[in-house]
Amino acid sequence: CAAAADDSANTLPKMPAFRYTPPPYTGPSAADISAKRKEFLSPSMFHFYNKPVNVVHGKMQYLFDENGRRYLDAFGGIATVCCGHCHPDVVKAIVKQTQNLQHSTILYLNHAITDFAEALASKLPGDLKVVFFTNSGTEANELAMMMARLYTGSHDIISLRNAYHGNAAATMGATAQSNWKYNVIQSGVHHAINPDPYRGLFGSDGEKYAHDVEDLIQFGTSGHVAAFISEAIQGVGGIVELAPGYLPAVYSSIRKAGGLCIADEVQSGFARTGSHFWGFETQHVVPDIVTMAKGIGNGIPLGAVVTTPKVAEVLTRRSYFNTFGGNPVCTAAGLAVLQVIERENLQENANIVGSYLKQRLISLKDKHEIIGDVRGRGLMLGVELVTDRQLKTPAKAEILQVMEQMKDMGVLIGKGGFYGNVFRITPPLCFNREDADYLVDVMDYAMSKL
Ligand code: PLP
Repeated sequence: CAAAADDSANTLPKMPAFRYTPPPYTGPSAADISAKRKEFLSPSMFHFYNKPVNVVHGKMQYLFDENGRRYLDAFGGIATVCCGHCHPDVVKAIVKQTQNLQHSTILYLNHAITDFAEALASKLPGDLKVVFFTNSGTEANELAMMMARLYTGSHDIISLRNAYHGNAAATMGATAQSNWKYNVIQSGVHHAINPDPYRGLFGSDGEKYAHDVEDLIQFGTSGHVAAFISEAIQGVGGIVELAPGYLPAVYSSIRKAGGLCIADEVQSGFARTGSHFWGFETQHVVPDIVTMAKGIGNGIPLGAVVTTPKVAEVLTRRSYFNTFGGNPVCTAAGLAVLQVIERENLQENANIVGSYLKQRLISLKDKHEIIGDVRGRGLMLGVELVTDRQLKTPAKAEILQVMEQMKDMGVLIGKGGFYGNVFRITPPLCFNREDADYLVDVMDYAMSKL
């Protein structure tokens, strides 16, 4: 039996067939690009690999390097490429709009913007129908927090430890991981205990964590708050799905304290969780403000804040404007993305393939002691590596080793979490069962080599 297990670990998994040949590459070499990157790009622009891949072309769930070598993209440009790389319908919409009108500003009428706003609003529940377009998730969250402060007259915002909400002033304040924080003035932000079922103080008891928010309101604020902001599944934080029952209890406390509830759907939105279109729906709540980016444009720079007409009124007190927010090329892409998600049943696919993949990863946990936890939903899954299951000691060096080996075998995967020891699996939503098998077989092989 042991011999059979060893044999399987020594058999190289075979990448699924994919009938596509990328165009020949004629650009500079990986070594040239690396040298220029060192000289001309900010040193903050890090990469995970010893030898990073020179990505020159993308097609659906695959990326290609300068030699035409194919890689299965299990990270999806950080949960961003939802329809697939260079999806033909999205490309067509972008090209058509670019040839017609590349930019105008929102000072004029243009249907590319209103058509998408209408389609987006139709995906949201209740009275969430007023859209403000931004260029990124950071901008969307900055605006959402400002609107909540204006609407309520309070400055106090409650966010979660381990959250990531962006890298500008207010959003870096709301972000709660020392890895991502510079010396910003963290005015008015209070960080609640993270309702993390694996590492959190109260296990999976969402109600107990929610009591901490009650405490924060009572002891850390005047009793009146502006907002609560959270992801439904923390992405950068290592695919942490908030403990069940947490959001309904917290939303109720926040509303009692006069605050608004902001759902950051930058990673968990656009069908990624499979079971629902939005992450907040997995906890059966309806927010007052929803922020989004990443998947909204399949990689085109676009973000949005969607709120109710009543909350949106606050922006009529002064002028508020954004040069590129609502650029027609970006919104044309956004509309095409929504249509592709629907036409190709990508939400259902994320649900079916994601559940299958999660089951396979859970089985892998029985084989490899280094896997401490498997979690997430749909095609937003996390695999946490630990050197000691009891102590949950983060396997920081080992994850890099496994990652490098997986890359050499043609699988690109993300990683994150506070300790950097969690695999983040957020591929394009067209990922299929064979892709899932290949990913798990490669991970299995790479772990066997530790
Ligand atoms: N919110 C969440 C949940 C994110 O994951 C991110 C980025 O990773 C952001 C906000 C910030 O988005 P952006 O990088 O587009 O500014």
